[in-house]
Amino acid sequence: SVSKDPKDALSKGPQDTPRAADDLVVLSGVNKHFGALHVLQDIDLTITRGEVVVVIGPSGSGKSTLCRTINRLESIDSGTITIDGKPLPQEGKELARLRSDVGMVFQSFNLFSHKTVLENVMLGQIKVRKTEKKAAEEKARALLDRVGVGTQADKYPAQLSGGQQQRVAIARALAMDPKVMLFDEPTSALDPEMINEVLEVMQQLARDGMTMVVVTHEMGFARSAANRVVFMADGKIVEQASPEEFFSNPRSDRAKDFLSKIL
Ligand code: ADP
Ligand code: MG
Repeated sequence: SVSKDPKDALSKGPQDTPRAADDLVVLSGVNKHFGALHVLQDIDLTITRGEVVVVIGPSGSGKSTLCRTINRLESIDSGTITIDGKPLPQEGKELARLRSDVGMVFQSFNLFSHKTVLENVMLGQIKVRKTEKKAAEEKARALLDRVGVGTQADKYPAQLSGGQQQRVAIARALAMDPKVMLFDEPTSALDPEMINEVLEVMQQLARDGMTMVVVTHEMGFARSAANRVVFMADGKIVEQASPEEFFSNPRSDRAKDFLSKIL
């Protein structure tokens, strides 16, 4: 977690804005363009500590870009993003440290292929968190056990199934003690029989109280794990509601149309 060092200007800087104590991720008036394409349009979104938000919407609506802006893999053109009250800096060491408060799991597992499973989960702890090697290994083994791949620790990613690799990717993200976890279509690249083993790990994480933003087409997961469904289309948040309400009574034509195609 973020340093409490009083010398650290970010921990008590004047840029900290007043907020509800439970607001963890706050996007306010966020705009983003790719050339002429206005990919995120005036996005206001507040994610509360412990909340599970599922983001759905047609392909190209800006879901991945939204996730990528939350940990500054993409810059934004206007608006603000704060994580636990701290604005995301543009660059430098502070960015690396704050970014590591945001765990990210991608569709493609993005593991280091030339490192073992264990090393994959140790690396960020040592490099970014400055954890001692022994402690990093202990934590990595515990996390690999937690996601059900403890016996695979000494293998290389290519020796694992897709579902196992994605669970390693989740363990690697968790090893940084993130305040929030972002999942961008984490099961889309998996063979069908491996989808559930990954969703189950995510379900457990949600039950354990992790704050999560999940882009997914798995509506069963949305129904059972989400506190809130955010529906995006054409770079905008078109509507948001509890899963019960959203799935039984979508209000916008865009959402009705989308649901009629996928359900
Ligand atoms: P989604 O995840 O909802 O499918 P994305 O956020 O990936 O949507 O993309 C939103 C739009 O932005 C799409 O039209 C996509 O082609 C475009 N886009 C995404 N990334 C880039 C990029 N790096 N450069 C240019 N256009 C991009
Ligand atoms: Mg996407």
